[in-house]
Amino acid sequence: MNEASQNTPDMPFYPVSRFYKDKFGEKVFKIPVAIAGKCPNVKDGSGLKTCIFCDEWGSFAYPENQQRSLREQIEMHRKRVRERYNTNKFFVYFQAYTTTYTQVKRVREAFEIALGYDDVVGIIIGTRPDCLSPALLETFNDVAERSFMGLELGVQSFDNRQLEWMRRGHTAEQSVAAIRRIKSECPRVNIGVHLMFGWPGETREDIIAAAEQCNQLQLDNVKLHNLHVLKNTDLEKLYNTKKFKPVEMEPYAEYVGLFLAHLSPAIAIHRLVATASRWDELVSPQWTRNKMQNYQHVVTYMRQNNISQGCEYESAP
Ligand code: SF4
Repeated sequence: MNEASQNTPDMPFYPVSRFYKDKFGEKVFKIPVAIAGKCPNVKDGSGLKTCIFCDEWGSFAYPENQQRSLREQIEMHRKRVRERYNTNKFFVYFQAYTTTYTQVKRVREAFEIALGYDDVVGIIIGTRPDCLSPALLETFNDVAERSFMGLELGVQSFDNRQLEWMRRGHTAEQSVAAIRRIKSECPRVNIGVHLMFGWPGETREDIIAAAEQCNQLQLDNVKLHNLHVLKNTDLEKLYNTKKFKPVEMEPYAEYVGLFLAHLSPAIAIHRLVATASRWDELVSPQWTRNKMQNYQHVVTYMRQNNISQGCEYESAP
């Protein structure tokens, strides 16, 4: 029995839900909230253009809620999540735009509000690798002293050609440096990255290199997405002029299998396939609409091909 199968007796990968259950003794769900309305790439920021795939909502699932106070957002989503999943513990997930691209004082106040709820067992924040000031790291350490503190970095790729194509405005070296800094200065912070597959010209070697980079960095978790086309993005313009074709389900399942085969079995997986936050904005591919079917498709592909997370992983000597 390999390490991966010890980690995942019933699944061919290590789901983050298992990590949370082991840590907290029961299921924990995220409540998505937003306190930021911009990021360094949006037009009222540094003047750069948005990432090629990003819509006007900065990846937030509930843009209408940005007009609500943080308390209103927490209470509304907590009710929805509790009714749907029958759960008693929550993370408040600062999801949209670049939450750390705002005053640290505001971030601290928001964290205090979130942690004031008895059933909130931690904070998770999504941000960019180039928006992490020393004061923020201090704030993360303060939270990590008394609660769970998770950081999800929108790395998307460790390949500079891909980062340039998607106009991220940061390099792979900046991502690696940010992760190393967090690991060294905030050792109690749980750190993960978001990665996307489906870039033009992407190769099997690129996918394996991404897994090896995650292993070297000893990440805690990874969230995987297929690159999809949303309305009113520059990617849509490329798609409409046939300069970009989204990856189909079959090759994407192979990418995920390849990535997970080379990934350390100790790294938890948040998500295998992208889901559009607002379905009416999805242009292509249509297969990405069916969340459960896609998830099952990847799992079936892995089982049929005898792939489990870490089956090709070789830990450093
Ligand atoms: S994906 Fe994130 S960093 Fe890129 S433009 Fe959108 S909100 Fe900004």
